[in-house]
Amino acid sequence: MSGLPPLREVIARHGLSASKALGQNFLFDEQLLDRIAAIPGSLEGQNVLEVGPGPGGLTRALLRAGAHVTAIEMDRRCLPALAEVEAAFPGKLRVIEGDALKIDPATLFEGPYHIVANLPYNVGTALFTGWLSGEAWPPQWASLTLMFQEEVARRIVAAPDTSAYGRLAVLAQWRSRARLAMKVHRSAFTPPPKVMSAIVHVEPGAAPAGVSMRVLERVTEAAFGQRRKMLRQSLKGVPGALEALERLGIDPQRRAETLSIDEFVSVARALSPTA
Ligand code: SAM
Repeated sequence: MSGLPPLREVIARHGLSASKALGQNFLFDEQLLDRIAAIPGSLEGQNVLEVGPGPGGLTRALLRAGAHVTAIEMDRRCLPALAEVEAAFPGKLRVIEGDALKIDPATLFEGPYHIVANLPYNVGTALFTGWLSGEAWPPQWASLTLMFQEEVARRIVAAPDTSAYGRLAVLAQWRSRARLAMKVHRSAFTPPPKVMSAIVHVEPGAAPAGVSMRVLERVTEAAFGQRRKMLRQSLKGVPGALEALERLGIDPQRRAETLSIDEFVSVARALSPTA
């Protein structure tokens, strides 16, 4: 439709051998890429931040879906391929060369935007926790659609009383809705990574009143830092936490992974400074 050459040809022509150091595993299957671009809902006329476009497979799918895309890529070798995509979708793609960990996306957009990314595991997790950790809520982003190792995706959407439940689940779910949107087989990538992947979709929800993000972090860090211990032990170092458990009727003999997200929120509220 766009008249762009197949991605494999683009990779060969620009010599884009996948760099291990940059965590590069490319997706070439256009149908799969279109299904990924459909996860946030209709993108017609919407702003999208894509992190790590690489040779531009997902970028093309987002543009086909009608989005205005701003893409941050730190591998200079990919820029000529991305310039071709820019030329095929005039005025619809802005490419920024740089490290996404050092760029505040709020400086790139005036209104709401969706974030879509297929990133290396460590970068993806660092960005994800950063995007979810602002005190101000709702955030400027309207949704996150992110590829993770399947094991990490399962930790993000985990329910209480499961081994995958921990800090990441509480962070992702206490004021957002997080769901596992799609599993992606390792063979879909070039080169294939060692493990399976999955895409998580997150939308901001209402923030519970009177809860400081920092206090909630402190409580979950202490509780899950010693997840096999009873709360009585693991929360000892958090001032006021044991008294809060008693006031809230939460048995201090329980362990962190048995507490619902609402219970973590209640503990954090009891410890949050009142305005
Ligand atoms: N989106 C493409 C796809 O799906 O085929 C490429 C995915 S590849 C897993 C990850 C991309 O993120 C690579 O192009 C890599 O250069 C880029 N990248 C890695 N770390 C980055 C960072 N800190 N900031 C921006 N881009 C980064």
